[in-house]
Amino acid sequence: MLLRIDVITIFPEFFEIPLKLGLLGKAINKKSLIGVFVHNLRDYAHDNHKTVDDTPYGGGPGMVMKCEPIYESVEALKGKNSLEHIILLSPAGKVLTQDKVKEMASWKDFVLICGRYEGVDERVVEGLVTEEISIGDYVLSGGELPALVVIEAVSRMVPGVVGEWESVVNESFYNGLLSCPQYTKPANFRGMKVPDVLLSGNHEEIRKWREKQAILRTLRKRPDLFENLRERLKIDLDELEDMYE
Ligand code: SAM
Repeated sequence: MLLRIDVITIFPEFFEIPLKLGLLGKAINKKSLIGVFVHNLRDYAHDNHKTVDDTPYGGGPGMVMKCEPIYESVEALKGKNSLEHIILLSPAGKVLTQDKVKEMASWKDFVLICGRYEGVDERVVEGLVTEEISIGDYVLSGGELPALVVIEAVSRMVPGVVGEWESVVNESFYNGLLSCPQYTKPANFRGMKVPDVLLSGNHEEIRKWREKQAILRTLRKRPDLFENLRERLKIDLDELEDMYE
């Protein structure tokens, strides 16, 4: 196993189907490249009702997830997970990027804690987690979908999960650019034709066309990405626009 992920949640059922399907399912169940272990937070509750939340100090709406079950569920992983990376899914976290995903794929293990209700007691953030990750500036009802997003994105960066590495490096964001447009049969659909170069069989011309399209698409659709790339590579934007006009 190249990567171990432990997930702590009050809804283990959430993970059953997604972890069985597609490339991720194969990586876990057939190739054994990744191990995803889902733990029910309620197993660490202290009462017969399996309570994991309580009312907020100071009043206010909703419930807050209690410290004790979360700390104890993570501590129970000692010896199985290095506990070097304990991540809370949270709208207050750093927004996930492909660079972060690549970094996480190089770790040997990590823990994902899924919040619910109004979120977790702040002492979980202060004393247990090593970082908080958000999947975007909007609020979901729980951390389970964000955890699945993290698991799927990170798994694609683990060698062997995606059959052909070339398809990973040509994907959007891998090199800071969006991917080029793709077409499949038929060559003419309702008058919309596949660009001639893709039917030419000239591999060098196809490679150049794809490179140019990736740059143009990024310039037009995500100029913000392009700006970052330009700074990183010290590219002159005007020069590039002229070149690709
Ligand atoms: N009261 C919190 C706030 O305003 O930031 C929102 C809590 S939300 C209803 C419940 C849980 O969903 C969070 O603790 C977190 O685990 C998860 N969650 C919601 N939106 C998220 C996002 N954008 N990224 C990551 N996790 C999120």
